[in-house]
Amino acid sequence: MHYQPRPEDVRFLLNAVLDAPSRLNALAPFAEVDQALQSQVLEEAARFVGEVVAPINREGDEVGCRFDEGDVIAPPGFRAAYQGFVDGGWPALSAATEDGGQGLPAVLEAVLYEWLAAANHGFTMAPALLHGAYACLKHHASEELKQRYLQKIATGEWLATMCLTEAHAGSDLGQVRTRAEQQVDGSLRVSGGKIFISGGEHDLTPNIVHLVLCRLPDAPAGPKGLSLVLVPKLLPDGTRNAVHCERIEEKMGLHSSPTCSMRFDDATGWLVGEPGHGLAAMFVMMNSARLHVALQGIGLLDTAWQKADAYASERRQMRAPGPVPASRGNEPADLIAEHPAIRRILDTQRAWIDGARTLAYRSALMLDVAVHDADPKARERAQRWCAMVTPVLKAVCTQQAFHGASECLQVFGGHGYVREWGIEQVVRDARVTMIYEGTNEIQAIDLLVRKVLPDGGAAMSAVLLELRDTLDASREADADVQRRLAQLRYMGTTVAMAAHANPVLPYEVADDYLRVVALAMMAWAWARIEAADEAVATDGPGRAMRARAAAAFRRWVLPEFEMRLGIVKRACETVALTHSAAAVQPRGVAQ
Ligand SMILES: Cc1cc2nc3c(=O)[nH]c(=O)nc-3n(C[C@H](O)[C@H](O)[C@H](O)COP(=O)(O)OP(=O)(O)OC[C@H]3O[C@@H](n4cnc5c(N)ncnc54)[C@H](O)[C@@H]3O)c2cc1C
Repeated sequence: MHYQPRPEDVRFLLNAVLDAPSRLNALAPFAEVDQALQSQVLEEAARFVGEVVAPINREGDEVGCRFDEGDVIAPPGFRAAYQGFVDGGWPALSAATEDGGQGLPAVLEAVLYEWLAAANHGFTMAPALLHGAYACLKHHASEELKQRYLQKIATGEWLATMCLTEAHAGSDLGQVRTRAEQQVDGSLRVSGGKIFISGGEHDLTPNIVHLVLCRLPDAPAGPKGLSLVLVPKLLPDGTRNAVHCERIEEKMGLHSSPTCSMRFDDATGWLVGEPGHGLAAMFVMMNSARLHVALQGIGLLDTAWQKADAYASERRQMRAPGPVPASRGNEPADLIAEHPAIRRILDTQRAWIDGARTLAYRSALMLDVAVHDADPKARERAQRWCAMVTPVLKAVCTQQAFHGASECLQVFGGHGYVREWGIEQVVRDARVTMIYEGTNEIQAIDLLVRKVLPDGGAAMSAVLLELRDTLDASREADADVQRRLAQLRYMGTTVAMAAHANPVLPYEVADDYLRVVALAMMAWAWARIEAADEAVATDGPGRAMRARAAAAFRRWVLPEFEMRLGIVKRACETVALTHSAAAVQPRGVAQ
């Protein structure tokens, strides 16, 4: 069974819940992008993903990429599918038209990439970095580099990579050793080794544009000494540059995406941005990439859910407790979808998918507001939302992708553990999303230590107040969300105070904090989805599915909010107690 995108589900969230068409129409570049055009793009995207990309997923996993003396050969069907992707104008949907893009809103690109990942995660890895590379060059590259590379990247004619990781420098990029030396002609010579580079070598496009984090001579140690250098596989005169793939990794999953060890031997490159500002330039790319990884998580969970839901609607075992299901007929056993334990698994994953979708699509809308809104205050608010919410979504969506896909595998019993149904591939593929683009531990620290605590929780508080102001306190569900948002604001202050007494504490509770934020935001999303369903008042399978998911969210997901809040509170109280005990301890007495 291939993944089949369902545009009607997405349309409901975009139109009825997020009011995307009018929000976008208010931005000058999208004044003409009406609901009909958005709908048309979604329908076409669904068709391409369902008919072209999904069918080559299974063979891509089984055959994988092949390494042949420095060359990498993509699995069967991938070259043709990628060419179709380029011909259809899909690679960088939101890139500006003057650069060869479609000039469409980021939220449509977000939906496309979510569906691509759901259909074929390995294929999606190839173009996944294009939008980030495009944004990075657009903001930081010289006019000459833009002339040479921007359009090729925006159209997907050439693919791009992000070369950060080295054997000894993973999360800690300050340890990067790859060196770059200035040449008299203004170019640089790059030498060193990078590992785990997605799409470092392949036969999908003739040229590959590597964005390489490296160190110039005399650069200070640590992250401040890093610069970003563009190193193409083919030089402007068409000759081969001194950049080589030494091997590709054997991996747990994602077999159709080559993960390459790259060697740069005095390779020619050009500086992107200022010397020593490489990380800042790279972060333009990484923030965009992180939202896309969150979308990968949502897509992978949706594909796992689709498979499990279909299986549970056919497989019969034993009698289900409770009222006689309508589907029983003369059958000796009931559908496993009727068994409460299985129903709970399915509805819980659905709750994650649609709640997380609402938040991720809102983030994608904010990406456009942050750039195009005429009001500087609105731009500032949108930037704040993206800064706070991107690490939250990256971490929770990918965590749920793996754990939720594993739950979906459980729905198949032993049939899930064998290859036939394809669910085991989703579990294997999903695991890496918790690791790359900054591990989930790093996301939690980024949120709490780098973004929330430095201003005593003020920026996070502002984001939460904005959400509060969208709620209608006369609705019971909305009032409940308002209470949780208030608890969360208070918790930010509590952690900030406890951190003064014990600076290690925020690092210990960062993950709990991130999950409390995620759950409060999910509660907001579900309150808005339910309100929209009441307002639109249409019946149908989509509405029934959302009603079950909303109930599952309240019963099986949201209680984690209290649990995590309790963990953080207890940790802060312990610090306060230890601190006051230490304060009354007579001097000179050993502990
Ligand atoms: C399939 C795949 C594709 C990839 N694609 C790319 C790519 O295209 N480009 C690229 O540059 N890299 C890529 N990577 C590399 C990936 O980004 C790194 O693996 C990741 O950043 C973690 O680095 P590491 O593996 O060295 O783990 P480490 O940094 O050694 O981390 C090990 C463990 O320690 C934890 N840890 C480390 N530091 C801290 C800290 N300060 N606080 C708390 N916990 C910490 C981590 O969370 C992790 O659990 C890819 C990796 C894989 C597996």
